[in-house]
Amino acid sequence: MKVKLMTLAICVILLSGQLSCTTSGSAEQAQNHWAVHDMSRPRPPVVTPGEQPGQPPSNAIVLFDGKDLSEWVSLEEDEPARWKVENGYMEVNKETADIRTKKSFGSCHLHIEWATPARVRGDGQDRGNSGIFLMSTYELQILDSYNNKTYADGQAAALYGRKPPSVNACRPPGQWQSFDIIFHRPIFKDGQVHRRATFTILHNGVLVHDHYELTGGTWWRGPHAISEYEEHPDKLPLMLQDHDNPVRFRNIWLVELSEKPR
Ligand code: MG
Repeated sequence: MKVKLMTLAICVILLSGQLSCTTSGSAEQAQNHWAVHDMSRPRPPVVTPGEQPGQPPSNAIVLFDGKDLSEWVSLEEDEPARWKVENGYMEVNKETADIRTKKSFGSCHLHIEWATPARVRGDGQDRGNSGIFLMSTYELQILDSYNNKTYADGQAAALYGRKPPSVNACRPPGQWQSFDIIFHRPIFKDGQVHRRATFTILHNGVLVHDHYELTGGTWWRGPHAISEYEEHPDKLPLMLQDHDNPVRFRNIWLVELSEKPR
């Protein structure tokens, strides 16, 4: 088999005895290979963490700090969001439509806290239903899944219709819960999916999706062909669902992530 010489890695043993690899590619690529403990290697930028666990770090975009819905609009005709805001949280106002962020995002680390109603009404999908739509497209389900039987790919922390969480980490109704979502958007090229979206998700600090590669969009009752994606822009708003249940949200922030080749 022919070997393309230009792509061969050339390993150079440094005088220090350490092994360093470079390629015959660009100079920039070669510069990205550092010797172990190399003092000239750029150090990461400083980020100040939140004062308490779950609070936004200094590089976060705060989307809801408990005060107002200035970062949000109603999905219907871009009107001001009509959900209730009180006591540091927002609450779904029944039949006032989904809401979306004014800004658009692609890959991100999203932190969001939510609570289903303390007073339990209904069952299955009718108990504390809402949802978080990354890029207005990919739904991470919110539901009161504490002693509430429903289909696995529609319970809390499910990527709706695609993948149940690996465990059920739901707290009782009325209690605050958290999602930390590491999301990498899909990449499209020439109308085809070049790279699928991936999700790593912690529910109340418990890992429920470990770099799961989403096989397509999330819709009620499918269809769910393996390659089913619909091409969309690189950035789209984050959306929260009005499913007629008074679900509450607080402390919503995200950090945008760069697209690393994989
Ligand atoms: Mg939902």
